[in-house]
Amino acid sequence: MSKINSEYFIKRANKLYEVVIGLEVHAQVISESKLFSTSSTKFGAEPNTQVSLVDAAFPGMLPVINEFCIKQAIKTGIGLKAQINKFSVFDRKNYFYADLPQGYQISQFKDPIVGEGKVILDMPNGQKEIGIERLHLEQDAGKSIHDLDPRNTFVDLNRSGVALMEIVSKPDLRSPDEVNVYIKKLRSIMRYLGTCDGNMQEGSLRADVNVSVRLKGTQEYGTRCEIKNVNSIKFMQMAIEFEANRQVNLIEEGKNIDQETRLFDTKKNETRSMRSKEDAHDYRYFPDPDLLPLEVSDEYISKIKTEIPELPDEKKKRFIDKFKLTPYEATIMVSDIETSKFFEETIKSSDIKLATNWIIGELFSVLNEKNLDITQSPVSAKNLSKLINLIKDGTISGKIGKTIFELMMDGDKDPQKIVEEKSLKQESDPKALEKIVQQVIDKNKDKAKEYKAGKEKLFGFFVGQVMKESRGKANPQLVNQILKKKL
Ligand code: ADP
Ligand code: MG
Repeated sequence: MSKINSEYFIKRANKLYEVVIGLEVHAQVISESKLFSTSSTKFGAEPNTQVSLVDAAFPGMLPVINEFCIKQAIKTGIGLKAQINKFSVFDRKNYFYADLPQGYQISQFKDPIVGEGKVILDMPNGQKEIGIERLHLEQDAGKSIHDLDPRNTFVDLNRSGVALMEIVSKPDLRSPDEVNVYIKKLRSIMRYLGTCDGNMQEGSLRADVNVSVRLKGTQEYGTRCEIKNVNSIKFMQMAIEFEANRQVNLIEEGKNIDQETRLFDTKKNETRSMRSKEDAHDYRYFPDPDLLPLEVSDEYISKIKTEIPELPDEKKKRFIDKFKLTPYEATIMVSDIETSKFFEETIKSSDIKLATNWIIGELFSVLNEKNLDITQSPVSAKNLSKLINLIKDGTISGKIGKTIFELMMDGDKDPQKIVEEKSLKQESDPKALEKIVQQVIDKNKDKAKEYKAGKEKLFGFFVGQVMKESRGKANPQLVNQILKKKL
């Protein structure tokens, strides 16, 4: 979190250039079957095994709308606090490509299902609102595979016809870090809703990244370039940095920026021109005569609204109001739905403050180290809350707690059992502690004298010795008291 920087300018010849970014995110809809056919959408199947006659565009085949996908798009629109359009139209976007057997993609152009909305970003210096222009539904294309054979290209149509939501942002983003936070927030909202799994490795979430630059303080936008189909946040950030610098250099050389479509070469870390930017009229968009305009009723939308779960922003507010988390802590706890579940499960029966610290501190750093996400945590919420309770009621010290936590990471062991097996219980018997304290003082008579003569810094030394003698089990508060008395 702390590394995130929302200030981003490019400096050239004493001038500051601002970077303007707008994203078109393609999010694959979670749905058993495709947008206009009953074929499966399951990832990773043998090529061309999930292709119906509709997906392969056989003559005379007719698309039939999958209502579930409509519902998913509306849900997402509600999650983006957006206008849901009761009337929308499916258009044909015409272009030729080997992995597009229809010769056109069914998409929405003039009348998308979702209109303007917004996404709130939690930046280190406060919140920032990013406008959503629209969300429309469209079919995915198939996949052309160029690297299996030196002479031939293979086509896999499994993806052909899978439902995508294209979520178009306003050009409100200003830095690679804001793009990072934006994508994560969007993904988080859709995961809460169950409308897109956000899996970038499998291509369920990818984006066209539009970049332009302008002198800081200018009102008008510069000419944009669009970098196609970037499938990781890191690559988006790298592409933006490269592209923005390229544009600044052109301006500084007095040259023009051509509006064009570029691709990001991940190996060379550069963007390259693919083609000059096509305009909408190049696609000859027109309403698909095979599909009626889509009309949804107020009742239908209201019913979907009742199925919307608590979303990150609302959850964050509740965590702050009810559990007194700081905004920083709350942002982390709601960042994905699984983390919020783990947190709420843990605090069902343990101290909130301690649980927050243990989850954000110990648990996250170990999970990070082991490259696990919270659903794969070896320590369950239930056992973590038991551990916290053992610390809270004084059975063990916080330090021993950490030792036990490490043992628990080896396979969700019950902390109570570990305490018994390893006899790690905190020593809180004053008599036993007095004995240890006396031994330590006797062993270090010189230092005890110096302490009495006023060298107060030595107190810590004595505490340390007693803790060592007790193998970390002595109750620190009691040790302090007894030492004060005896010295
Ligand atoms: P197209 O399909 O032609 O790319 P869209 O309207 O679908 O058009 O998307 C345009 C995207 O480009 C939006 O995300 C928008 O925010 C962004 N954009 C528009 N103008 C600029 C600009 N000057 N600089 C950066 N991004 C821009
Ligand atoms: Mg575009």
